[in-house]
Amino acid sequence: MYERPEIHAMAGYVPGEQPKRNGTVKLNTNENPYRASEKAYDAIREICDSRNNASGLSRYPNPPAQPFREAAAEIYGVEPETVLCGNGSDDILTILTRTFVGSGELIRLPRPSYILYASLAEIQGARYEEILFDENWRLPPAFAEAKDGLKLVFLPNPNSPSGTVLSKGTILEIAERLPCPLIVDEAYADFSEFHCIDLVSQRENIIVTRTLSKAYALAGLRFGYLFAPPNLVEQMLKVKDSYNCDALSIAAATAAICDTEWQQENRRTILATRKRLTEGMRTLGFAVPDSQANFIWCVHPSLKTASHKPIYEYLKQNGYLVRYMNYGVSGDGLRISVGTDEQIDECLALIRQFVSTEISSGTSLT
Ligand SMILES: *Cc1c(COP(=O)(O)O)cnc(C)c1O
Repeated sequence: MYERPEIHAMAGYVPGEQPKRNGTVKLNTNENPYRASEKAYDAIREICDSRNNASGLSRYPNPPAQPFREAAAEIYGVEPETVLCGNGSDDILTILTRTFVGSGELIRLPRPSYILYASLAEIQGARYEEILFDENWRLPPAFAEAKDGLKLVFLPNPNSPSGTVLSKGTILEIAERLPCPLIVDEAYADFSEFHCIDLVSQRENIIVTRTLSKAYALAGLRFGYLFAPPNLVEQMLKVKDSYNCDALSIAAATAAICDTEWQQENRRTILATRKRLTEGMRTLGFAVPDSQANFIWCVHPSLKTASHKPIYEYLKQNGYLVRYMNYGVSGDGLRISVGTDEQIDECLALIRQFVSTEISSGTSLT
């Protein structure tokens, strides 16, 4: 065995399923169903069409992605030195782990939440502990307690798979009690009623991460970033790959984030469809917590002992891919991304069909 024992022992993160069948509607990884801002596509085209070698692909890109840092700083009213860019926010989460956590040290995360955090701990040779959400998707005081070796705490807000949020006041309280950085993962905050970027300047241990994958419809581009106190960004710049963002992604991401009109219009559309999807699923008897993200979490109460997997399988057979999640003791359920109105209506019709034959007839789902 040549590999490190912790790599050998780990299962490895499994990204969301990619359909083999053409025409499958993907509602399983919270991608945006709409086309990104044309300004993002134009920015890429401009680089490709440029005959000027210095602005083409033969040169290394700007190491910290300075044009994006300046644009994000302007939009959110902060200094560029507080922004760090990465190859998707997964890269940002890797940089955070490598900067703050040594082998054998401890990472804390809520459960159920984003599965990647545990994989990052394993790769780093660190330990992790999971603090369970209660039935109202709140966290117990243990989440904020200091502990020997605790070096980093992850908190997605809105959370995945629930779409629920902790209030800003709660997040501030958690950070005040923690002896280490609190990472507020705001992958979905553009769909939420509030965000925590302004808390970064209030507390030296709050870091907010963002991505263009969801709210900007650029999952294929790979661009994420964070806001942190400048002294921490300075340290993280040493850890990241020198050119972790390429020339095309820097140009497109900068154009996309500046197109606030596109983003606001897209947000309005997604929120309206989210309402339609939530109400539709509740009408079918599912318990759905109020979501502030671009997906909803659905559990059918009359399936307590059985599994939600047959619904997932039925949908898949009919060309709709949703996310089936099984968290063991915390139970299982379906996470459905907000697609277009047409996709959501069809998906709801399929679920209605399934539920009417499988549940009202009294047969249990097995
Ligand atoms: C999707 C997601 C990310 C990662 O997004 P990237 O595509 O890597 O930018 C990070 N955190 C959460 C909670 C997510 O759901």
